[in-house]
Amino acid sequence: MDYEITVKGLVQGVGFRPFVYRLATSMGLSGDVRNSGGIVRIRLKDVSEDVLKRFIAGLRAEKPRGSSIASIETKPAEHNDAAGFFIISSDSDRQEEFPEIPADIGVCSRCRAEMKDLSNRRYGYPYISCASCGPRFSIIERLPYDRDNTTMREYDMCSQCEEDYSDETNPYATRHFAQTISCMNCGPQAILSTPEREYRGNFAVGEACRILRNGGILALKGIGGYQFVCDPEDTYAVLKLREIKGREKKPFAILFPSIAAIRRFAKVSSEEERLLKSDARPVVLLDAGGKERFSRFVCADSRSIGAMLPHTGIHEMLTAVCGPLIVTSGNISGEPLSYKDDEFFRHEYEGLEGTLYNTRKILTPLDDSVVRILGGRVRTIRYARGYVPGRLALDRPIKKPLLTMGGDLKASFAISKGKNIILSQYLGDLESYAVQESYKAALSRTLELYGFRPEAIACDKHPGYISGRLADELSKKHRIPVVGIYHHHAHVASVMAEHGLTHTIGVAMDGTGYGRDGRIWGGEIFYISGSAADRRDHIGYFKLIGGDEAAKDAKKDLQCLMYAADMDIENPLIGVALDEDINTFETSSAGRLFDIMAAALGLRSYNTYEAECAIALENAAYDALRKGLTTYALPVTSDPVEMLYYAVKARDKGIDVREIALGFHRMLSSWIIRSCSKIREEKSDNNVCLSGGCFANRVLSEMCRVGLVTKGFHVYMNENVPMNDQGIAVGQAYILSLQ
Ligand SMILES: [Zn+2]
Ligand SMILES: [Zn+2]
Repeated sequence: MDYEITVKGLVQGVGFRPFVYRLATSMGLSGDVRNSGGIVRIRLKDVSEDVLKRFIAGLRAEKPRGSSIASIETKPAEHNDAAGFFIISSDSDRQEEFPEIPADIGVCSRCRAEMKDLSNRRYGYPYISCASCGPRFSIIERLPYDRDNTTMREYDMCSQCEEDYSDETNPYATRHFAQTISCMNCGPQAILSTPEREYRGNFAVGEACRILRNGGILALKGIGGYQFVCDPEDTYAVLKLREIKGREKKPFAILFPSIAAIRRFAKVSSEEERLLKSDARPVVLLDAGGKERFSRFVCADSRSIGAMLPHTGIHEMLTAVCGPLIVTSGNISGEPLSYKDDEFFRHEYEGLEGTLYNTRKILTPLDDSVVRILGGRVRTIRYARGYVPGRLALDRPIKKPLLTMGGDLKASFAISKGKNIILSQYLGDLESYAVQESYKAALSRTLELYGFRPEAIACDKHPGYISGRLADELSKKHRIPVVGIYHHHAHVASVMAEHGLTHTIGVAMDGTGYGRDGRIWGGEIFYISGSAADRRDHIGYFKLIGGDEAAKDAKKDLQCLMYAADMDIENPLIGVALDEDINTFETSSAGRLFDIMAAALGLRSYNTYEAECAIALENAAYDALRKGLTTYALPVTSDPVEMLYYAVKARDKGIDVREIALGFHRMLSSWIIRSCSKIREEKSDNNVCLSGGCFANRVLSEMCRVGLVTKGFHVYMNENVPMNDQGIAVGQAYILSLQ
């Protein structure tokens, strides 16, 4: 009997076809295997049912690293005469479901070993890759995933690589049918361009190491774009880097050569180790706490270190020689990632000693992803390289193809059809014109790559959002409807989407989002059933001055709230502005409340980067917990004036501000738990979803989670979808799917 087997899942770009070939030939079977859109089709000739079963069991059991099988279907096939087993070139038909496109995969252990093996012909080749590792999504131009459809097509294989590519006898056969295969003779080469001269190949890498060890700053072309690299123990270099980037204080991530090296600076649990070594090689936020410390200008007084392991051969080589290195995006803060060689070189960065790059084109720029473990689960903070274009699987199908635009901060869109939502990479804040352009470029590339035609669009309800304006333009152009979705509802729905919920109590705590009454919401508790959200409770409104500046200037926000609490304030003009309603707005923002508390307790009064004040408040509370200090009890309330009044009173009595900070966290979580309990009494619903950027605060989220679980609630939080505004597009899609 002849069979056709259809394998769906992550099966392209991970060496699946050569794996099928090896499995079939090892079992002495005839037939063929091909990529078709995003799925793999296998035909087997003259096999018994028993052999078919063994073959399928083999597919599942021995599938290559980086692949995952969603489903395997078999049906009888027409007879074909071929003898032997063949990998045949790909069809490119379009499917009902999204085709799978592989994410970029960090360099595998076998390639790393070959790179370091003097006798190997790829010894010291920094762009080594194989059938189960290397760049993928960042270099794919169109489907199916074949060399000719990637930017590797510009590099003709040398005869030896050609041999590796077609060699099925090699016991490992890691390069049999590997689309990105290359070597020193035929692939991309390392080039170091300095003001004086240009170095190539091993000389380029050697000179780059020398510059870094002498405290220089280099630009480095990575998988997803240009990066800046320097020695984190060299204070002068770190300060210089901050100057180049215009990044005052925000901590930098560090590339380490090994887990052992990370342990000298931070604690690494087994789960964190697994994440660090995972195919995506994300930046993992770890608790600082090793024997050694970097220059204090690297992560200031942060209690976390963003650590990552090398995801390419070039990163591996640099960190192996130079030790830990700061690796950060190679652009001015707030601007999008640079990824085109000519554009990067046009920009002259004062203080850069050289640029280490190769000429392989990047088609999709991708930042490094950022994750952490919290409450025993993975929490995604930035969804980008290594994860995109992964898919979120839903229980129910979405009625029509959707495009959801996300929000303006941490912009990210999503496309949805069938039972899948695909969230785009992190694109930055849309207030920058350059970020708007890269958002548009990413969107049109994604639509083209998937051949996707949305039949409806959703965007944030905020009338001033740029993403909303883009949605309107697209709606006119394609003559499809636009639906506005409220920000905090979308936050909660992003959790519901991940956990397949259709009803829940929803808690959304963040900085800013447009609310149903036209005010700026940010401390919201809903009851959500299907696609309808009913606001049941919220942090009391308070009046602030100024638009975007209010999100930065915590001292000014503090004075606004002090004025409302009848306390004396430094700047009488603030009182006048509040009385006359000059450029004021009302908000229930939890984020601003954290800023105000940090300022009131004298911990931090200005956000030079997002959530700087809130992090200072969290750190103070954490310090109190760690040192076993008492919690200063504040009366449980949703009224910000009252919160401030009691906190200031305690401060003036000379209570340790860390105890007050801890008390504030306890008070806020008690209010949340109390409010959820009230809703449960009425709705008999045990589900609670927590979302929004404030839950990145580990003290707050653990207090809420543990407190709610103790009271018998089922508590859900975001895992693969970011809990911050990058996850909004997923929530928007899920709400529409429930309508
Ligand atoms: Zn490899
Ligand atoms: Zn070659």
